[in-house]
Order: sequence, then C-alpha cells, then structure tokens
Amino acid sequence: MRWVENPPNPWHTQHREWLGPPPPARLEIYEESARSIVTGNESPDVGFRWSANPYRGCFFGCSYCYARPTHQYLDFGAGTDFERRIVVKVNAPRLLRRTLRKKSWAGESLALSGNTDCYQPLEASYRLTRGMLEVCREFANPVGIVTKSGLIQRDLDLLCDLAAFGLVRVHFSIAFGDDLMARAIEPYAPSPSARFEAMRTGSRRGRSSITSGPPNDARSSAVISATACMQPACAAMSCGCVSASDNTTRGSASGISSSEIVAPCGIVSTAISTC
Ligand code: SF4
Repeated sequence: MRWVENPPNPWHTQHREWLGPPPPARLEIYEESARSIVTGNESPDVGFRWSANPYRGCFFGCSYCYARPTHQYLDFGAGTDFERRIVVKVNAPRLLRRTLRKKSWAGESLALSGNTDCYQPLEASYRLTRGMLEVCREFANPVGIVTKSGLIQRDLDLLCDLAAFGLVRVHFSIAFGDDLMARAIEPYAPSPSARFEAMRTGSRRGRSSITSGPPNDARSSAVISATACMQPACAAMSCGCVSASDNTTRGSASGISSSEIVAPCGIVSTAISTC
C-alpha cells in the first residue's frame, strides 16, 4: 500500500499538510477529450521534433522520471499523483488522424511517449496507442516509440507492417540490468528481464531494430548484439556479429543519456538511460 505523497506544487500559494496519516494512493482515471495531440519542441537535448502522448501521468512510477512536474500544471502533484491520477486522452487516435490529414503536416517522424509510457497498463483496455499506430500506418507516417512495457508485443502486427517500409523504431528504456535494483527505482514497471524478453520477441518478429538498452551495460550490450543478429538483414548477410563495435555515450542537460550501438553488420540500436 502506498500513501498519497506529493511535493509542494510551485503553482499553488497554499499547501495542504495531513494532520493524520495521508489516504492511500488509489488509481484514479480521468478521461479527457483533448484539443490537440501532437506537440512540437525545438530543444537540442531532445531527439525528436514532434511527439504525441495518449496519457498524462504514468503508472510505472519511476523515481527519476523527468515528466513528473508536468502533472503540476493539471493541479495535481508530482509524486504519487503522477503515478495514480492518470489522465486518458480518449480521442487521441481521432485527433492524430485530423493532424496527419492537414496539408501543413510534412510527414515528419512522430514520437509516441516522451511524457508518459504509451504502453502503461491502462493501454491494455484503452488501446489508444494501438489506434495511433493504425493511423500512422494509414498515412505511412514514421513513428518512434519508447517504452518499458512488454505490452508492446500485442501490437507486433502493426509494428511489422510499419517496419516493412522502414517507418518505425522502438526503443526499450532499461536503466538497470539488475531486476532488484530496478524494482527499487522503477517500482511498478516491468522487470528488466521482462523487457529483454520483449526485445527478443520483437526482433524475432520485426524487420527493423526493436532494440535498446542502457549505455555501458555489458548485459544489455550482449542482448542488443544477439538481438541484432536475429534480424533478417543480419541473417541474410551471415555477418555472425557477436559484439557491438561502437558504443558512444553522450550526456545532455536534461539528464538523458543515450548511445548508439553499431553492430558489425551495420544495424544501429539506440540505447537510452531514461524515457
Ligand atoms: S516509464 Fe517513463 S514515463 Fe513512465 S514513470 Fe518511468 S520514466 Fe516516467
């Protein structure tokens, strides 16, 4: 059981303190009919220009999540509110279709996630990420996904359709190779072992790289290399690569670090330390 615990909201002039024990942090779902779904940014620290998030808040509750303060704009807290008061943009696929139809839309790559995990548990019933992927397939629009969830395997059919035209990249966020360590810092996210397994499944079914992992982590590098070798392109070249040939890590002002791991056969896997 977790109790409600949030840092003071800087947008409030008053703060509430509990006289007794705070109430339990229960899951609350807020359905929202959003006005728009695609957001642009020009930050040199962020590797994408356009993003779309079907949810606000994230059940996985990683303690390091940089998206937490965005919940304070909603009058919620950045602590347990971010993890348990989840806003669902129920019209996300419809809004995305409306955006991609516009003449002004240039068909640039779209990042699903960035401010939430688009495959958090609610996605199993709301299916908004799946709906958005269907729209991307309909418009042949390139899309990138960052997730910690094995639920992405549900949508391998769509991902394979997009990958057949080089329209998708999927990145698994794996900050720790050790399950116990991850449980302490990412308490409600699937274990790293489960994520590695999802990567393996994705690479067996997929055509483009569905691989990512933490920079400078021997275990993940090995899995990434092994995964790359399962790619059809790798198999066709019989390159037999067994280790990554390059691993360049770069830091950024936002605290995200990423690296590109290039297998000898040329398949590039992007690894990130946080989503
Ligand atoms: S999975 Fe990503 S979006 Fe969700 S809490 Fe963790 S870091 Fe934040």
